Amino acid sequence: MRACLVRQHFFTCVSRPPLFALQRPRSARASWVKSPRAPQVSLCAGMPRASSSSATAEGPSVASLSPKPCHTCGRVITPRAKWAKNWSEIKLCSDGCRSQRPGRRTRWSCGPEEPPLATALARSSERNEEAETCSTDVECWTELAVLAVAHDGNGVKVAPTCEDVERRLLEEGRPHWPAETQASEGDGGEKDQPNGHPLYTALHSAPGLRERVRRAARRLVILAPELCAHTAAAPFDSAPAGRVELVQGSKTLQTLDDVSFAKGPIGLRWVAESRPKNASR
Ligand SMILES: [Zn+2]
Repeated sequence: MRACLVRQHFFTCVSRPPLFALQRPRSARASWVKSPRAPQVSLCAGMPRASSSSATAEGPSVASLSPKPCHTCGRVITPRAKWAKNWSEIKLCSDGCRSQRPGRRTRWSCGPEEPPLATALARSSERNEEAETCSTDVECWTELAVLAVAHDGNGVKVAPTCEDVERRLLEEGRPHWPAETQASEGDGGEKDQPNGHPLYTALHSAPGLRERVRRAARRLVILAPELCAHTAAAPFDSAPAGRVELVQGSKTLQTLDDVSFAKGPIGLRWVAESRPKNASR
């Protein structure tokens, strides 16, 4: 009895005598596998070579699966053998993206007069008057800030960037930061400044403010609208219809690979679109 290296099962070959013993030591087997005779003795007689796109009892082959975007970071998820069986259920690329996925609300204490967030982006926020707490999904808030900055920069000579979104978010939350932090931000000391405010902490928590903004921008470009955080948490129907595009120099980042591997500053371009009637977004 021998093992077929293509079908990965044992079979009995009666037409040819065995050319090697199965019980060879591992080191000897390794040198045999590299020998030019290996293919002739390892294939099942009369069986076609397994196609890279064929489905097996274990599920489709890895080569037949298409890469897709992670629902947290917006980067490409490359198919792996261990995911082949349940590829359609794989939505996140890593444990990190699982723990940082959109949809978690950050809560903080606020007075009866205090708005959840200072401006129109408060759509991502809620206030619970009884408990005197406010809450927001920071990922949703970040997506809305990307859209707002891209929209506000529409038509200006120099396109706004993801860094402008960082400034917008800090500006939005500024009324909530403790006084000592507000003073230190002017000195560029915000990164080192410990800040007890949950909203500020959430904004700077892993993966950090810069990557958080870029993730939100990638999601807006590469995911279907219904998969973006702001669509579920805060319907965008009162805002101008349109979408955001990411640009680097004269290049528009359109494909999953473009968006996944872009390095350096990323510009935001607003593309106005007419909204279909009765659309939720
Ligand atoms: Zn991811």
